[in-house]
Amino acid sequence: MTKIKVAKPIVDMDGDEMTRIIWQMIKDKLIHPYLDVELKYFDLGVKHRDDTNDQVTIDAAEAIKEHGVGVKCATITPDAERVTEYKLKKAWPSPNGTIRGILDGTVFRKPIMTKNILPAVRSWKKPIIIGRHAYGDLYKSQEYIVTGPGKAEIVFTPANGVGEARLTIKEFTGPGIVMGIHNTEKSIRSFARACITYAVSEKVDLWFGAKDTISKKYHARFKEVFNEEVRNHEAALKEAGITYRYLLIDDAVAQIMKHEGGILWACKNYDGDVFSDMVAAGFGSLGMMTSVLVSPDGKYEYEAAHGTVRRHYYEHLKGNKTSTNSVASIFAWSGALRKRGELDNTPAVVKFADALEHSVISCIESGIVTKDLMSLVTPAVSTYETTEGFLDKVAARLRDAL
Ligand code: NAP
Ligand code: MG
Repeated sequence: MTKIKVAKPIVDMDGDEMTRIIWQMIKDKLIHPYLDVELKYFDLGVKHRDDTNDQVTIDAAEAIKEHGVGVKCATITPDAERVTEYKLKKAWPSPNGTIRGILDGTVFRKPIMTKNILPAVRSWKKPIIIGRHAYGDLYKSQEYIVTGPGKAEIVFTPANGVGEARLTIKEFTGPGIVMGIHNTEKSIRSFARACITYAVSEKVDLWFGAKDTISKKYHARFKEVFNEEVRNHEAALKEAGITYRYLLIDDAVAQIMKHEGGILWACKNYDGDVFSDMVAAGFGSLGMMTSVLVSPDGKYEYEAAHGTVRRHYYEHLKGNKTSTNSVASIFAWSGALRKRGELDNTPAVVKFADALEHSVISCIESGIVTKDLMSLVTPAVSTYETTEGFLDKVAARLRDAL
């Protein structure tokens, strides 16, 4: 058959360990046989990041800015142990953090659902997507341990020196703790815009939860910025048939447990950290969770939400068979291809992305699964596929579908 032409390039970012093995298999078995696509390749494997003093990560992020769509394999974020293991010059920062910073992006996590993996929450029928604000609050804080009586204050010193502000946090009579957190108007606004862009792109309703009844300035500012941006994008939201709801965060949690899903839940940084793990666990497996980074101006980077599956990789290195779930990595590719097709107005590419996802889902629904899904599917199955075996089964279904 003639290959389907992808009009514009996709930025392809390679990664580490087990997911790097899977990455190559996906390209060999599911992408290159069917698509005529130009991949702008960046090797974000930890060794190459080290060799280039992490310049390759910056170059990859710039390439996403230029081409609009990228797909990324999971990568090692080195700690001291990894520095020794891979003989690195230093513990380079998280590539995801670097790319997020350059694109000013927000990460959206979405579970992949199949008919035979039932969510832990009975009402959940469609994916609950979490949009996590990835800047500030608890994650950029100053903390202080108070050892005895004294006064803790917030002091703001304007750059022009005029109008210093000074607020008492607490007059301590004994030991205690204090923390100073912040956010920026720019970052909150980018977050709100990225959520709106994503909701419009996926045609899902948008929820945002905070605690403005208690935090009448800090949380209230988030609420106001969301309201302003929703007003600014009223036409686009209306055209896509999307409603926006602000909820108190505790109400949002209660409502989620009774909701059928099919929404984007925008979360402040800490809430997103907590609730994305809750939602992921509720939908089944880490191997079934995709993730996309969206910039406020509509650049997209797709990846699996899990890491490099290190334990499986060590088994692989010993020559043992592995059974690693490749579904989230495959969906990173289908997500990038679908977006490319939508942006380039090439329906054949969108159709291919649909067919690829359908091949994966139909395998799982007919009981062809990797080991992690064995205990999750109903009816239960008694055998599982190897890493490569699963990909071969998907490839066979894809071949038949095209
Ligand atoms: P991990 O890769 O998320 O895997 C943790 C465990 O979860 C695995 O050992 C496995 O459990 C299970 N698991 C995760 N994904 C799976 C899949 N696709 N199929 C089957 N089982 C899966 O976390 P890690 O092994 O602790 O971290 C390895 C590296 O990943 C770290 O260096 C970290 O920096 C990096 N990381 C990268 C990203 C990213 O690039 N987005 C995200 C998170 C972590 P069993 O062992 O029980 O089978
Ligand atoms: Mg977490």
